[in-house]
Amino acid sequence: MKYRHLGKTGIQVSELSFGSWVTFHNQADVKLAVDMMSAAYEAGVNFFDNAEVYAGGKSETVMGEALKQLKWRRGSYLISTKFYWGLNNGINEKNTLNRKRLIEGIQASLERLQLEYVDLIYCHRHDPTTPIEETVWAMHNIIEWGQALYWGTSEWSASEIVQAIEIAERHHLHKPVVEQPQYNMFERKRMEGDYTRFYKEYNYGSTIWSPLASGLLSGKYNKGIPKDSRGALKGYEWLKDKLTDEQKLAKVIALEPIAKELGCTLSQLALAWCLKNPFVSTVITGASRVEQVHENMKASEVVDKITPEIMETIDMIFEVKKEEEED
Ligand code: NDP
Repeated sequence: MKYRHLGKTGIQVSELSFGSWVTFHNQADVKLAVDMMSAAYEAGVNFFDNAEVYAGGKSETVMGEALKQLKWRRGSYLISTKFYWGLNNGINEKNTLNRKRLIEGIQASLERLQLEYVDLIYCHRHDPTTPIEETVWAMHNIIEWGQALYWGTSEWSASEIVQAIEIAERHHLHKPVVEQPQYNMFERKRMEGDYTRFYKEYNYGSTIWSPLASGLLSGKYNKGIPKDSRGALKGYEWLKDKLTDEQKLAKVIALEPIAKELGCTLSQLALAWCLKNPFVSTVITGASRVEQVHENMKASEVVDKITPEIMETIDMIFEVKKEEEED
C-alpha cells in the first residue's frame, strides 16, 4: 500500500481506503464489518469513511462496534463522518449546516462510533441557507474542542470552498483541507473540470467516492442485475437506470480487453485509473464481502502498468473531450 498526503496537511492516507455507505447495516452486520475492515487494514488501509446519515445512523453504530472488537491502536487509523441531511425532520435538523445541528451531530456520531474523536468531519453537501461563516466557526469549534481533528467538504463547488478558506484565514480559524467528490471513469466533472485549477492552487486534499460507479465498472451488471448486488437492494431502485444503461454498459464491455492485457480485473482497472490522477489523495472503496476487499486492494499493483496510451484509449471509450490546458 502506498500513502499520500491529505492535501497540504501532515496526515498521510492510504491511497485505497474503505467506506461504509449502503453496505454497513444493510448488507454487512458487525461480524462482516469486522472481517472486511480487517482485510482492508491488513492490506495497509488506514482511513475508514462513514457519515451520520448512512443507514440512518446505524452504519456508525456498526463501525463503532467493529472498532471496539478490533482493538486497533487509535493512532494507526483515521475515521471520518459527515453532516448535512440529518436524522430527524425538525426544522433545524435536516438539510442544514447550522451551528446547533453540527454541534449536536458530532456529539451523537461520537456516541454511535464509541470514539472520543473522529479524524475528519465533512460538510456532506453545501447549505445555501446557512451563512458559510456560521459553518466555518462551528467546524473550527468542534476541532478546538478535540471532537475532530480536520474538516472538509463534500460536493462543494470550488468557489464555495474558496469562500470558506478565506473566512477561516480572515479569523485565524481551522480551514477546510479536503473535498470528497464523486470520481470514476463516468463521472469526471469535479476532478477533471471545476477543481483542477483549485487543487493546483490550494493543494486541497481529495477523498473520492464511488470509484466503481456503485459496482457498474466491475462488469457485474453487463448481463443484468445480479440478485445479491447493490442494484437489487430495496431502497436503491433509483440506481437501477444507471446500472442498466445500455450505453454505459457498452463502455464497460469495451474496457475488458484492456483489463485482460494488464492481467487484472475490471474493478482493479477502474480503481487504479482513479489513482492515476495526482489530485486524488485516496480512493474510497466499498465492498459487501471480504473477497471484494481482497480483489480491490490489489488495484495498487496495476497503477504503474497503465501507460499514457492506455489512458488515451480509456478516454476514447468514454468519449472524453479534453479542453486545452490553461496555464
Ligand atoms: P463503489 O462505486 O466502489 O461501489 C462499491 C460497491 O460495488 C460494493 O459495495 C459492491 O456492491 C460492488 N463491488 C465492490 N468491489 C467489487 C468487486 N471487486 N467486484 C464486484 N463488485 C464489487 O463505491 P461506493 O459507492 O460504495 O462508495 C465508496 C465510499 O465512498 C462509500 O462507502 C462512502 O464512504 C463514500 N461515499 C461518499 C459519498 C459522498 O457524498 N460524500 C457518496 C457515496 C459514497 P455489491 O456487492 O452490493 O454489488
